[in-house]
Amino acid sequence: MAIDTVGESRATAETFEVINPADGSSIANVPIGGPAEVAATVARVRANQPAWEELGIKGRARWLGKLRDWLLDHQDDIADTMQRETGKVRGESMGETPYVTDLINFYSKKAHKYIGDERVPAHSPLMKVKRLKVQYRPYPVVGVISPWNFPLILSLGDAIPALIAGCAVVIKPSEITPLGLGEIVEAWKSEIGGPDVFDVVNGMGETGSALVDEVDFVQFTGSDRTAKKVLARAAETLTPVSAELGGKDPMIVLRTANLDKAVNAATWGSFANSGQVCISVERLYVEEPIYDEFLTRFTDEVMKLNQGMDGPEHGQDVGAMTFPPQTEIVESHVEDARKNGATILTGGERGEGPGDWYKPTVIADVDHSMKVMRDETFGPVVGVMKVRDADEAVRLANDSRYGLNASVFGSTRQAEAVARRLEVGTANVNDVLTGFLASDVPMGGWKDSGIGFRHGEYGIKKFVRPESLVITRLGSKREPLYFPYTNERRQKLLKLTQFFNARDWRRRLGRR
Ligand code: NAD
Repeated sequence: MAIDTVGESRATAETFEVINPADGSSIANVPIGGPAEVAATVARVRANQPAWEELGIKGRARWLGKLRDWLLDHQDDIADTMQRETGKVRGESMGETPYVTDLINFYSKKAHKYIGDERVPAHSPLMKVKRLKVQYRPYPVVGVISPWNFPLILSLGDAIPALIAGCAVVIKPSEITPLGLGEIVEAWKSEIGGPDVFDVVNGMGETGSALVDEVDFVQFTGSDRTAKKVLARAAETLTPVSAELGGKDPMIVLRTANLDKAVNAATWGSFANSGQVCISVERLYVEEPIYDEFLTRFTDEVMKLNQGMDGPEHGQDVGAMTFPPQTEIVESHVEDARKNGATILTGGERGEGPGDWYKPTVIADVDHSMKVMRDETFGPVVGVMKVRDADEAVRLANDSRYGLNASVFGSTRQAEAVARRLEVGTANVNDVLTGFLASDVPMGGWKDSGIGFRHGEYGIKKFVRPESLVITRLGSKREPLYFPYTNERRQKLLKLTQFFNARDWRRRLGRR
Protein backbone atom coordinates (compact mmCIF):
# COMPACT_ATOMS: atom_id res chain seq x y z
CA MET A 1 0.00 0.00 0.00
CA ALA A 2 1.32 3.44 -0.88
CA ILE A 3 1.73 6.28 1.58
CA ASP A 4 -1.02 8.84 1.17
CA THR A 5 0.21 12.43 1.47
CA VAL A 6 -2.58 14.61 2.79
CA GLY A 7 -3.36 17.99 4.21
CA GLU A 8 -5.74 16.77 6.90
CA SER A 9 -5.97 13.77 9.19
CA ARG A 10 -7.50 10.64 7.74
CA ALA A 11 -5.95 8.14 10.14
CA THR A 12 -7.97 4.94 10.47
CA ALA A 13 -7.58 1.62 12.23
CA GLU A 14 -5.36 0.55 9.32
CA THR A 15 -3.32 3.72 9.01
CA PHE A 16 -1.44 6.13 11.23
CA GLU A 17 -0.96 9.82 10.78
CA VAL A 18 2.37 11.66 10.48
CA ILE A 19 2.42 15.22 11.81
CA ASN A 20 4.77 18.09 11.03
CA PRO A 21 5.83 18.96 14.59
CA ALA A 22 6.89 22.48 13.66
CA ASP A 23 3.32 23.54 12.81
CA GLY A 24 1.10 20.65 13.86
CA SER A 25 -0.17 19.99 10.34
CA SER A 26 -0.95 16.50 9.11
CA ILE A 27 1.45 15.44 6.34
CA ALA A 28 0.64 11.80 5.61
CA ASN A 29 -1.39 8.75 6.48
CA VAL A 30 0.68 5.59 6.42
CA PRO A 31 -0.75 2.07 6.15
CA ILE A 32 0.02 -0.13 9.15
CA GLY A 33 1.81 -3.39 8.40
CA GLY A 34 0.19 -6.14 10.46
CA PRO A 35 1.82 -9.47 11.40
CA ALA A 36 0.81 -11.11 8.09
CA GLU A 37 2.41 -8.34 6.04
CA VAL A 38 5.54 -8.44 8.20
CA ALA A 39 5.80 -12.21 7.77
CA ALA A 40 5.30 -11.94 4.00
CA THR A 41 7.92 -9.17 3.66
CA VAL A 42 10.49 -11.12 5.65
CA ALA A 43 9.77 -14.31 3.72
CA ARG A 44 10.23 -12.47 0.41
CA VAL A 45 13.60 -10.91 1.26
CA ARG A 46 14.70 -14.17 2.91
CA ALA A 47 14.13 -15.98 -0.38
CA ASN A 48 16.37 -13.47 -2.17
CA GLN A 49 19.12 -13.36 0.48
CA PRO A 50 21.21 -16.34 -0.74
CA ALA A 51 21.75 -14.66 -4.14
CA TRP A 52 22.67 -11.43 -2.34
CA GLU A 53 25.20 -13.29 -0.19
CA GLU A 54 26.53 -14.99 -3.32
CA LEU A 55 27.44 -11.57 -4.78
CA GLY A 56 30.29 -11.26 -2.27
CA ILE A 57 31.40 -8.10 -0.50
CA LYS A 58 32.50 -6.38 -3.71
CA GLY A 59 29.24 -7.10 -5.53
CA ARG A 60 27.14 -5.92 -2.62
CA ALA A 61 29.27 -2.81 -2.12
CA ARG A 62 28.69 -1.98 -5.79
CA TRP A 63 24.91 -1.88 -5.16
CA LEU A 64 25.36 0.18 -2.00
CA GLY A 65 27.51 2.55 -4.08
CA LYS A 66 24.50 3.15 -6.31
CA LEU A 67 22.46 3.96 -3.22
CA ARG A 68 25.22 6.39 -2.08
CA ASP A 69 25.11 8.14 -5.45
CA TRP A 70 21.32 8.39 -5.35
CA LEU A 71 21.45 9.83 -1.83
CA LEU A 72 24.08 12.39 -2.83
CA ASP A 73 21.98 13.44 -5.83
CA HIS A 74 18.84 13.89 -3.69
CA GLN A 75 20.23 15.55 -0.56
CA ASP A 76 17.92 18.54 -0.74
CA ASP A 77 14.77 16.46 -1.30
CA ILE A 78 15.74 14.22 1.60
CA ALA A 79 16.35 17.26 3.82
CA ASP A 80 12.90 18.63 2.86
CA THR A 81 11.24 15.45 4.10
CA MET A 82 13.44 15.31 7.21
CA GLN A 83 12.45 18.86 8.05
CA ARG A 84 8.75 18.19 7.59
CA GLU A 85 8.56 15.01 9.63
CA THR A 86 11.02 15.86 12.45
CA GLY A 87 10.80 19.65 12.83
CA LYS A 88 14.59 19.89 12.57
CA VAL A 89 16.16 23.11 11.32
CA ARG A 90 17.76 22.93 7.87
CA GLY A 91 21.32 22.65 9.18
CA GLU A 92 20.37 19.48 11.03
CA SER A 93 18.11 18.06 8.31
CA MET A 94 21.08 18.23 5.95
CA GLY A 95 23.21 16.24 8.38
CA GLU A 96 21.80 12.76 7.83
CA THR A 97 22.89 12.07 4.23
CA PRO A 98 26.62 12.81 4.71
CA TYR A 99 26.78 10.33 7.61
CA VAL A 100 25.00 7.60 5.67
CA THR A 101 27.04 8.04 2.48
CA ASP A 102 30.31 8.06 4.45
CA LEU A 103 29.24 4.85 6.19
CA ILE A 104 28.63 3.15 2.84
CA ASN A 105 32.18 4.06 1.80
CA PHE A 106 33.63 3.04 5.16
CA TYR A 107 32.11 -0.45 5.28
CA SER A 108 32.60 -1.05 1.55
CA LYS A 109 36.30 -0.48 2.13
CA LYS A 110 36.68 -2.22 5.50
CA ALA A 111 34.28 -5.16 5.26
CA HIS A 112 36.88 -7.48 3.82
CA LYS A 113 39.23 -6.76 6.72
CA TYR A 114 36.49 -7.16 9.33
CA ILE A 115 34.51 -10.14 7.99
CA GLY A 116 36.65 -11.65 5.23
CA ASP A 117 37.87 -15.25 5.57
CA GLU A 118 40.59 -15.70 8.18
CA ARG A 119 43.38 -18.28 8.41
CA VAL A 120 44.28 -18.90 12.01
CA PRO A 121 47.49 -20.63 13.15
CA ALA A 122 46.82 -23.26 15.83
CA HIS A 123 48.41 -22.43 19.15
CA SER A 124 48.82 -26.05 20.21
CA PRO A 125 51.62 -27.98 18.50
CA LEU A 126 49.28 -30.98 18.50
CA MET A 127 46.77 -29.07 16.34
CA LYS A 128 49.37 -27.72 13.95
CA VAL A 129 48.66 -30.63 11.64
CA LYS A 130 45.28 -29.03 10.97
CA ARG A 131 44.46 -26.05 8.84
CA LEU A 132 42.17 -23.62 10.70
CA LYS A 133 39.97 -21.16 8.87
CA VAL A 134 37.02 -18.97 9.84
CA GLN A 135 34.39 -17.76 7.44
CA TYR A 136 31.77 -15.24 8.52
CA ARG A 137 28.26 -15.99 7.32
CA PRO A 138 25.47 -13.39 7.60
CA TYR A 139 22.31 -13.77 9.62
CA PRO A 140 19.89 -14.24 6.71
CA VAL A 141 17.42 -11.52 7.75
CA VAL A 142 18.15 -8.62 10.09
CA GLY A 143 15.28 -6.57 11.52
CA VAL A 144 16.15 -2.95 12.31
CA ILE A 145 13.81 -1.13 14.72
CA SER A 146 14.58 2.58 14.88
CA PRO A 147 13.61 5.77 16.78
CA TRP A 148 12.43 9.18 15.57
CA ASN A 149 15.30 11.52 16.41
CA PHE A 150 17.57 10.65 13.45
CA PRO A 151 15.28 8.74 11.09
CA LEU A 152 18.00 7.87 8.55
CA ILE A 153 21.19 7.73 10.61
CA LEU A 154 19.66 5.31 13.11
CA SER A 155 18.03 3.01 10.56
CA LEU A 156 20.28 3.05 7.48
CA GLY A 157 23.26 3.38 9.80
CA ASP A 158 22.73 -0.26 10.79
CA ALA A 159 21.08 -1.47 7.58
CA ILE A 160 24.20 -0.56 5.57
CA PRO A 161 26.72 -2.75 7.42
CA ALA A 162 24.12 -5.54 7.58
CA LEU A 163 23.54 -5.38 3.81
CA ILE A 164 27.28 -5.26 3.10
CA ALA A 165 27.66 -8.28 5.39
CA GLY A 166 25.23 -10.17 3.13
CA CYS A 167 22.06 -10.00 5.21
CA ALA A 168 18.65 -9.05 3.90
CA VAL A 169 17.23 -6.18 5.95
CA VAL A 170 13.73 -5.13 6.96
CA ILE A 171 13.41 -1.84 8.86
CA LYS A 172 10.55 -0.84 11.16
CA PRO A 173 11.04 2.93 11.36
CA SER A 174 9.52 5.01 14.12
CA GLU A 175 5.85 5.67 13.46
CA ILE A 176 6.59 9.35 14.20
CA THR A 177 9.06 9.73 11.29
CA PRO A 178 8.68 7.02 8.63
CA LEU A 179 8.53 9.16 5.48
CA GLY A 180 12.16 9.92 4.55
CA LEU A 181 13.25 6.32 4.94
CA GLY A 182 10.19 5.16 2.97
CA GLU A 183 11.22 7.40 0.06
CA ILE A 184 14.76 6.00 0.08
CA VAL A 185 13.67 2.36 0.16
CA GLU A 186 11.21 3.11 -2.65
CA ALA A 187 14.10 4.58 -4.68
CA TRP A 188 16.23 1.47 -3.98
CA LYS A 189 13.46 -0.63 -5.49
CA SER A 190 12.23 1.47 -8.39
CA GLU A 191 14.95 3.97 -9.39
CA ILE A 192 18.13 2.10 -8.42
CA GLY A 193 16.65 -1.33 -9.19
CA GLY A 194 18.47 -2.85 -6.20
CA PRO A 195 18.04 -6.55 -5.36
CA ASP A 196 14.88 -7.30 -3.40
CA VAL A 197 16.62 -7.77 -0.06
CA PHE A 198 15.81 -4.45 1.56
CA ASP A 199 12.38 -3.22 2.70
CA VAL A 200 10.41 -1.39 5.36
CA VAL A 201 7.35 -2.32 7.39
CA ASN A 202 5.43 0.54 8.95
CA GLY A 203 3.47 0.65 12.16
CA MET A 204 3.68 0.94 15.90
CA GLY A 205 4.93 -1.42 18.63
CA GLU A 206 2.90 -4.40 17.37
CA THR A 207 4.58 -4.18 13.96
CA GLY A 208 7.98 -4.04 15.67
CA SER A 209 7.04 -7.04 17.78
CA ALA A 210 5.94 -8.99 14.71
CA LEU A 211 9.27 -8.20 13.07
CA VAL A 212 11.13 -9.54 16.11
CA ASP A 213 9.25 -12.83 15.65
CA GLU A 214 10.29 -13.23 12.02
CA VAL A 215 13.94 -12.18 11.74
CA ASP A 216 17.23 -13.86 12.68
CA PHE A 217 18.84 -10.83 14.34
CA VAL A 218 17.32 -7.68 15.82
CA GLN A 219 19.07 -4.31 15.78
CA PHE A 220 17.09 -2.08 18.12
CA THR A 221 17.64 1.62 18.80
CA GLY A 222 15.30 3.34 21.23
CA SER A 223 14.47 3.56 24.92
CA ASP A 224 15.56 1.02 27.52
CA ARG A 225 11.87 0.58 28.40
CA THR A 226 11.04 -0.73 24.91
CA ALA A 227 14.33 -2.62 24.67
CA LYS A 228 13.28 -4.81 27.61
CA LYS A 229 10.09 -5.76 25.75
CA VAL A 230 12.06 -6.49 22.57
CA LEU A 231 14.59 -8.63 24.47
CA ALA A 232 11.79 -10.57 26.20
CA ARG A 233 10.07 -11.19 22.88
CA ALA A 234 13.29 -12.19 21.16
CA ALA A 235 14.05 -14.63 23.98
CA GLU A 236 11.06 -16.69 22.87
CA THR A 237 12.76 -17.50 19.57
CA LEU A 238 16.35 -17.22 20.91
CA THR A 239 16.95 -14.37 18.49
CA PRO A 240 20.02 -12.24 19.26
CA VAL A 241 19.48 -8.52 19.87
CA SER A 242 21.84 -5.58 19.74
CA ALA A 243 20.38 -2.59 21.58
CA GLU A 244 21.47 1.06 21.37
CA LEU A 245 19.61 2.89 24.12
CA GLY A 246 19.33 6.16 25.98
CA GLY A 247 21.88 8.32 27.73
CA LYS A 248 22.32 11.02 30.35
CA ASP A 249 25.62 12.26 29.10
CA PRO A 250 27.97 14.26 31.30
CA MET A 251 30.37 16.96 30.16
CA ILE A 252 33.22 17.81 32.53
CA VAL A 253 34.96 21.18 32.32
CA LEU A 254 38.31 21.14 34.10
CA ARG A 255 40.07 24.32 35.26
CA THR A 256 42.66 23.83 32.48
CA ALA A 257 39.98 23.98 29.76
CA ASN A 258 39.94 26.52 26.98
CA LEU A 259 36.83 28.36 28.15
CA ASP A 260 35.77 29.69 24.74
CA LYS A 261 35.83 26.21 23.28
CA ALA A 262 34.09 24.67 26.29
CA VAL A 263 31.26 27.26 26.19
CA ASN A 264 30.70 26.83 22.44
CA ALA A 265 30.85 23.05 22.69
CA ALA A 266 28.45 22.90 25.65
CA THR A 267 25.98 25.08 23.75
CA TRP A 268 26.05 22.88 20.65
CA GLY A 269 26.28 19.62 22.59
CA SER A 270 23.24 20.44 24.73
CA PHE A 271 20.95 22.04 22.14
CA ALA A 272 21.75 20.46 18.76
CA ASN A 273 18.59 18.82 17.43
CA SER A 274 16.75 20.48 20.34
CA GLY A 275 18.59 18.15 22.72
CA GLN A 276 16.90 15.15 21.12
CA VAL A 277 20.15 13.26 20.65
CA CYS A 278 20.97 10.13 22.62
CA ILE A 279 24.48 11.58 23.13
CA SER A 280 23.33 15.13 24.03
CA VAL A 281 25.11 16.83 26.89
CA GLU A 282 22.49 16.67 29.66
CA ARG A 283 24.73 17.22 32.72
CA LEU A 284 27.56 19.73 33.09
CA TYR A 285 30.17 19.47 35.85
CA VAL A 286 32.44 22.50 36.07
CA GLU A 287 35.48 22.89 38.36
CA GLU A 288 35.05 25.51 41.07
CA PRO A 289 37.66 28.11 39.97
CA ILE A 290 36.03 28.58 36.55
CA TYR A 291 32.42 27.79 37.43
CA ASP A 292 31.05 31.35 37.69
CA GLU A 293 32.67 32.58 34.51
CA PHE A 294 31.68 29.46 32.59
CA LEU A 295 28.07 29.65 33.74
CA THR A 296 27.68 33.34 32.81
CA ARG A 297 29.24 32.92 29.39
CA PHE A 298 27.38 29.67 28.68
CA THR A 299 24.01 31.16 29.62
CA ASP A 300 24.72 34.23 27.44
CA GLU A 301 25.57 31.99 24.51
CA VAL A 302 22.40 29.91 24.94
CA MET A 303 20.28 33.08 25.05
CA LYS A 304 21.66 34.02 21.63
CA LEU A 305 20.31 30.84 19.97
CA ASN A 306 17.60 31.39 17.38
CA GLN A 307 14.71 29.00 17.72
CA GLY A 308 12.18 28.45 14.95
CA MET A 309 11.66 26.73 11.64
CA ASP A 310 13.62 27.77 8.57
CA GLY A 311 13.20 26.60 4.99
CA PRO A 312 15.70 25.43 2.39
CA GLU A 313 18.16 28.14 3.54
CA HIS A 314 19.88 27.91 6.93
CA GLY A 315 18.29 30.49 9.22
CA GLN A 316 17.62 28.99 12.67
CA ASP A 317 19.65 27.11 15.28
CA VAL A 318 17.13 25.18 17.37
CA GLY A 319 14.11 23.41 15.90
CA ALA A 320 10.91 21.90 17.23
CA MET A 321 10.27 19.01 19.58
CA THR A 322 9.57 16.01 17.35
CA PHE A 323 7.37 13.90 19.64
CA PRO A 324 4.80 15.66 21.88
CA PRO A 325 4.95 13.14 24.78
CA GLN A 326 8.69 13.88 25.00
CA THR A 327 7.89 17.56 25.60
CA GLU A 328 5.81 16.50 28.60
CA ILE A 329 8.80 14.61 30.00
CA VAL A 330 11.00 17.67 29.44
CA GLU A 331 8.44 19.85 31.22
CA SER A 332 8.21 17.44 34.16
CA HIS A 333 12.01 17.41 34.61
CA VAL A 334 12.18 21.21 34.64
CA GLU A 335 9.24 21.46 37.06
CA ASP A 336 10.82 18.88 39.38
CA ALA A 337 14.08 20.91 39.42
CA ARG A 338 12.24 24.18 40.00
CA LYS A 339 10.16 22.68 42.84
CA ASN A 340 13.31 21.35 44.52
CA GLY A 341 15.13 24.66 44.59
CA ALA A 342 17.07 24.78 41.31
CA THR A 343 17.54 28.08 39.45
CA ILE A 344 16.31 28.36 35.86
CA LEU A 345 18.76 30.74 34.20
CA THR A 346 17.08 30.82 30.81
CA GLY A 347 14.16 29.03 29.12
CA GLY A 348 12.19 26.76 31.42
CA GLU A 349 8.98 26.84 29.41
CA ARG A 350 7.36 25.84 26.14
CA GLY A 351 7.75 28.06 23.11
CA GLU A 352 4.75 29.48 21.32
CA GLY A 353 2.81 27.30 18.86
CA PRO A 354 1.57 26.26 16.44
CA GLY A 355 3.67 23.15 16.69
CA ASP A 356 5.60 21.77 19.60
CA TRP A 357 8.47 23.86 21.00
CA TYR A 358 10.51 24.01 24.18
CA LYS A 359 12.89 26.90 24.87
CA PRO A 360 16.62 26.18 25.36
CA THR A 361 16.96 25.86 29.13
CA VAL A 362 19.92 26.15 31.50
CA ILE A 363 19.43 25.10 35.11
CA ALA A 364 21.86 25.78 37.96
CA ASP A 365 21.80 24.81 41.67
CA VAL A 366 20.89 21.24 40.76
CA ASP A 367 21.83 18.01 42.53
CA HIS A 368 21.57 14.30 41.88
CA SER A 369 18.22 13.93 43.63
CA MET A 370 16.61 15.81 40.71
CA LYS A 371 15.20 14.14 37.59
CA VAL A 372 17.08 16.59 35.41
CA MET A 373 20.39 15.09 36.61
CA ARG A 374 19.19 11.49 36.85
CA ASP A 375 16.70 10.57 34.10
CA GLU A 376 17.04 11.02 30.35
CA THR A 377 15.43 14.38 29.47
CA PHE A 378 15.91 14.13 25.68
CA GLY A 379 15.15 17.78 25.13
CA PRO A 380 16.76 21.24 25.17
CA VAL A 381 17.58 21.26 28.88
CA VAL A 382 20.90 21.04 30.72
CA GLY A 383 21.75 21.06 34.42
CA VAL A 384 25.01 22.65 35.58
CA MET A 385 26.83 21.67 38.79
CA LYS A 386 29.91 23.08 40.48
CA VAL A 387 32.51 20.45 41.46
CA ARG A 388 35.52 20.73 43.79
CA ASP A 389 37.95 18.87 41.57
CA ALA A 390 38.33 16.26 38.84
CA ASP A 391 37.74 13.40 41.29
CA GLU A 392 34.35 14.76 42.28
CA ALA A 393 33.49 15.31 38.60
CA VAL A 394 34.33 11.69 37.79
CA ARG A 395 32.34 10.39 40.75
CA LEU A 396 29.25 12.39 39.76
CA ALA A 397 29.60 11.63 36.04
CA ASN A 398 29.66 7.90 36.85
CA ASP A 399 26.75 8.21 39.28
CA SER A 400 24.19 7.28 36.63
CA ARG A 401 22.37 4.21 35.42
CA TYR A 402 23.34 5.27 31.90
CA GLY A 403 26.79 5.04 30.28
CA LEU A 404 26.54 6.07 26.65
CA ASN A 405 28.85 8.97 25.96
CA ALA A 406 30.74 11.74 27.79
CA SER A 407 32.96 14.75 27.13
CA VAL A 408 35.90 16.16 29.04
CA PHE A 409 37.44 19.60 28.45
CA GLY A 410 40.87 20.52 29.79
CA SER A 411 44.55 20.21 28.96
CA THR A 412 44.71 17.25 26.60
CA ARG A 413 46.73 15.08 29.00
CA GLN A 414 44.59 15.75 32.03
CA ALA A 415 41.32 15.52 30.11
CA GLU A 416 42.31 12.17 28.61
CA ALA A 417 43.28 10.86 32.05
CA VAL A 418 39.84 11.87 33.36
CA ALA A 419 38.08 10.45 30.28
CA ARG A 420 39.72 7.07 30.88
CA ARG A 421 37.99 6.85 34.28
CA LEU A 422 34.45 7.33 32.92
CA GLU A 423 31.99 4.44 32.65
CA VAL A 424 30.83 5.12 29.09
CA GLY A 425 31.02 3.64 25.61
CA THR A 426 32.59 6.78 24.11
CA ALA A 427 34.45 9.66 25.75
CA ASN A 428 35.22 12.78 23.72
CA VAL A 429 38.24 14.81 24.78
CA ASN A 430 37.83 18.54 24.03
CA ASP A 431 34.79 18.00 21.81
CA VAL A 432 31.15 16.92 22.02
CA LEU A 433 28.95 14.59 19.93
CA THR A 434 31.53 14.11 17.17
CA GLY A 435 32.71 10.76 18.53
CA PHE A 436 29.66 9.42 16.71
CA LEU A 437 31.13 10.47 13.38
CA ALA A 438 34.31 8.44 13.90
CA SER A 439 32.89 5.27 12.35
CA ASP A 440 36.30 3.60 12.77
CA VAL A 441 35.78 3.06 16.52
CA PRO A 442 32.97 1.26 18.37
CA MET A 443 29.98 3.32 19.55
CA GLY A 444 27.59 1.88 22.10
CA GLY A 445 26.40 2.07 25.65
CA TRP A 446 27.47 0.63 28.98
CA LYS A 447 24.99 -0.07 31.80
CA ASP A 448 21.36 0.76 30.81
CA SER A 449 22.58 2.49 27.62
CA GLY A 450 22.79 -0.67 25.61
CA ILE A 451 23.96 -4.13 24.71
CA GLY A 452 26.27 -4.24 21.73
CA PHE A 453 28.00 -1.65 19.60
CA ARG A 454 27.79 -0.06 16.18
CA HIS A 455 30.65 1.29 14.05
CA GLY A 456 34.10 -0.18 13.48
CA GLU A 457 34.60 -3.92 13.46
CA TYR A 458 31.81 -4.52 16.01
CA GLY A 459 29.33 -2.67 13.79
CA ILE A 460 29.49 -5.29 11.05
CA LYS A 461 30.69 -8.38 12.89
CA LYS A 462 27.49 -8.47 14.93
CA PHE A 463 25.56 -9.27 11.74
CA VAL A 464 27.59 -12.39 10.92
CA ARG A 465 28.23 -15.74 12.56
CA PRO A 466 31.65 -17.34 12.51
CA GLU A 467 31.82 -20.76 10.93
CA SER A 468 35.10 -22.40 11.88
CA LEU A 469 36.55 -24.78 9.32
CA VAL A 470 38.93 -27.25 10.93
CA ILE A 471 40.59 -29.02 8.04
CA THR A 472 42.52 -32.24 8.45
CA ARG A 473 44.58 -33.23 5.48
CA LEU A 474 44.27 -36.86 4.57
CA GLY A 475 46.96 -38.82 6.36
CA SER A 476 46.68 -41.75 8.72
CA LYS A 477 43.59 -43.92 8.66
CA ARG A 478 43.26 -43.61 12.42
CA GLU A 479 43.81 -40.33 14.29
CA PRO A 480 45.48 -40.60 17.74
CA LEU A 481 42.21 -39.90 19.59
CA TYR A 482 40.14 -42.58 17.82
CA PHE A 483 39.18 -45.98 19.23
CA PRO A 484 40.52 -48.32 20.36
CA TYR A 485 41.84 -46.92 23.63
CA THR A 486 44.94 -48.99 24.18
CA ASN A 487 47.37 -48.37 27.01
CA GLU A 488 50.23 -47.96 24.59
CA ARG A 489 48.54 -45.24 22.53
CA ARG A 490 47.21 -43.47 25.63
CA GLN A 491 50.66 -43.39 27.20
CA LYS A 492 52.17 -41.86 24.08
CA LEU A 493 49.46 -39.23 23.95
CA LEU A 494 49.80 -38.42 27.64
CA LYS A 495 53.54 -37.97 27.26
CA LEU A 496 53.03 -35.63 24.36
CA THR A 497 50.38 -33.49 26.09
CA GLN A 498 52.50 -33.41 29.28
CA PHE A 499 55.47 -32.29 27.22
CA PHE A 500 53.63 -29.50 25.43
CA ASN A 501 51.46 -28.27 28.31
CA ALA A 502 54.09 -28.16 31.05
CA ARG A 503 56.02 -24.96 31.40
CA ASP A 504 59.06 -26.36 33.22
CA TRP A 505 61.51 -29.05 32.11
CA ARG A 506 60.98 -31.32 35.12
CA ARG A 507 57.31 -31.79 34.30
CA ARG A 508 57.99 -31.90 30.58
CA LEU A 509 60.11 -34.96 31.25
CA GLY A 510 57.33 -36.55 33.25
CA ARG A 511 58.52 -35.74 36.81
CA ARG A 512 56.65 -33.81 39.49
P1 NAD B 1 11.04 3.92 21.68
O1 NAD B 1 11.73 2.90 22.51
O2 NAD B 1 9.75 4.45 22.16
O3 NAD B 1 10.76 3.36 20.21
C1 NAD B 1 11.80 2.86 19.39
C2 NAD B 1 11.18 1.98 18.31
O4 NAD B 1 10.65 0.80 18.92
C3 NAD B 1 10.05 2.62 17.52
O5 NAD B 1 10.18 2.27 16.17
C4 NAD B 1 8.82 1.96 18.13
O6 NAD B 1 7.70 1.89 17.27
C5 NAD B 1 9.35 0.57 18.40
N1 NAD B 1 8.59 -0.21 19.39
C6 NAD B 1 7.78 0.25 20.38
N2 NAD B 1 7.30 -0.78 21.11
C7 NAD B 1 7.81 -1.91 20.56
C8 NAD B 1 7.69 -3.30 20.87
N3 NAD B 1 6.95 -3.72 21.88
N4 NAD B 1 8.37 -4.18 20.11
C9 NAD B 1 9.15 -3.77 19.08
N5 NAD B 1 9.30 -2.47 18.74
C10 NAD B 1 8.64 -1.55 19.47
O7 NAD B 1 12.10 5.09 21.46
P2 NAD B 1 11.88 6.50 20.75
O8 NAD B 1 11.02 7.34 21.64
O9 NAD B 1 11.48 6.29 19.34
O10 NAD B 1 13.38 7.07 20.75
C11 NAD B 1 13.93 7.77 21.82
C12 NAD B 1 14.89 6.88 22.61
O11 NAD B 1 15.87 6.34 21.73
C13 NAD B 1 15.66 7.66 23.65
O12 NAD B 1 15.76 6.90 24.83
C14 NAD B 1 17.03 7.81 23.01
O13 NAD B 1 18.08 8.04 23.90
C15 NAD B 1 17.17 6.50 22.30
N6 NAD B 1 18.19 6.59 21.27
C16 NAD B 1 19.35 5.87 21.40
C17 NAD B 1 20.34 5.99 20.45
C18 NAD B 1 21.65 5.22 20.53
O14 NAD B 1 22.32 5.09 19.52
N7 NAD B 1 22.06 4.75 21.70
C19 NAD B 1 20.13 6.83 19.36
C20 NAD B 1 18.96 7.55 19.28
C21 NAD B 1 17.97 7.42 20.22
